[in-house]
Amino acid sequence: MKFSLPKRDLTFYIVVAIVLGILSGIFLNPIKDVDWVKIYLMDGLFELGGRIFLSTLKLLVVPMVFVSLVCGVLSLKEISQLKRIGLKTFAWYVASTALAVTFAVVFAILFNPGEGFKLTANTTFEAKAPPSVIDVISAIVPSNPIKAMVDAEMLQIIFLAILVGLALSLVKTKAEKLTAIFFEANEVILKMVFMILWVAPIGVFCLLAKVFANEGFETIVPLSKYFFTVLFVLFFHFFVVYGSLIKFFTRISPRLFFTRIQKVLAFAFSTSSSNATLPITIEEAEKQLGVDNEVAAFTLPLGATINMDGTSIMQGVATVFIAQVYGIELGLMGYLTVIGMATLASIGTAGVPGVGLIMLTMVFTQVGLPVEGIGLIIGVDRLLDMTRTCVNVTGDLAVTCVVAESEGKLHFPQAKIS
Ligand code: ASP
Repeated sequence: MKFSLPKRDLTFYIVVAIVLGILSGIFLNPIKDVDWVKIYLMDGLFELGGRIFLSTLKLLVVPMVFVSLVCGVLSLKEISQLKRIGLKTFAWYVASTALAVTFAVVFAILFNPGEGFKLTANTTFEAKAPPSVIDVISAIVPSNPIKAMVDAEMLQIIFLAILVGLALSLVKTKAEKLTAIFFEANEVILKMVFMILWVAPIGVFCLLAKVFANEGFETIVPLSKYFFTVLFVLFFHFFVVYGSLIKFFTRISPRLFFTRIQKVLAFAFSTSSSNATLPITIEEAEKQLGVDNEVAAFTLPLGATINMDGTSIMQGVATVFIAQVYGIELGLMGYLTVIGMATLASIGTAGVPGVGLIMLTMVFTQVGLPVEGIGLIIGVDRLLDMTRTCVNVTGDLAVTCVVAESEGKLHFPQAKIS
């Protein structure tokens, strides 16, 4: 007898996997220390499925960003277009992050999440020294192209891809074969993404079952005010700010925008990583939202690296929360410093799980808050990380659509492509 699943859109199976993963995790949480649950499920099946899924995604990130950006640069009519797209994208990314952290600070002051929180001593958090501005900027230029790829250094790969793309378009006919190879490789990589999408439900299920079995909800209770303030601002920014960006700066209806990016959101939520989600973000931006490759291939990898609105929201709320808990008055200058520093910190945050919390030390040090205060919020950070990563990738997609529209490179398909 042949077993086959009923024909449905892939998004349907991914949503089912999300629900089943969360429910299984919640169900297993009370028995997570029982031997067979720990050995065979948590550290066995779920770990294996999750790890393989993440590896297949990460496997595609570097080749996809490199090849598709080279093709993007080759498709540009004039080089000046690249400069214009770059400047616009950077400005939108920084502005949307500054706005996000401003909302975070304002709502945190209004909601007062630190009120009534009992500070039980002995929180620990090891602060790492943040990199200097010179280090950050000079690191964009790779000294070794292979190492840049091996280390998946996104900004270096972007730099290299632009250089190769420009050189190829300048030598024109002398490198026709190599140019064709890039376009052919791009097709192959897109096919690989498509193949991976079909095993995603299993990977998503394993990742979520493990996270929810590990975390449980009891950690949220003492931190519920902080937790829900962050969630509130994340949702606010997601629907109100991105909804308005799409409504006023593109011809896409916000409702369609949000429904077309469901797959990307599912990947961001289950992997907690903008970087690992990147192949899907690029593919869906081109296919579901109709952004031309020359824009998407540049703006999205850049966004996954420097644009973290969700992360900066967590950082804004966390700073106000910890200041309230320790009874430290930040004052107007303090809040402005938080907005500036969280915007910078989010630029420096890599799109991988949990880094936002590490970069928070930069903000704390600048405004004079005790860094060990971060230890207080670690317990709920894993769950918030999943949600803020969704906001991070949506910010990349919204800005990408706005920039594409302004360049005449947004061709939104009316019908959804499954
Ligand atoms: N997990 C986030 C991302 O990849 C970064 C963070 O906030 O830790 O987008």
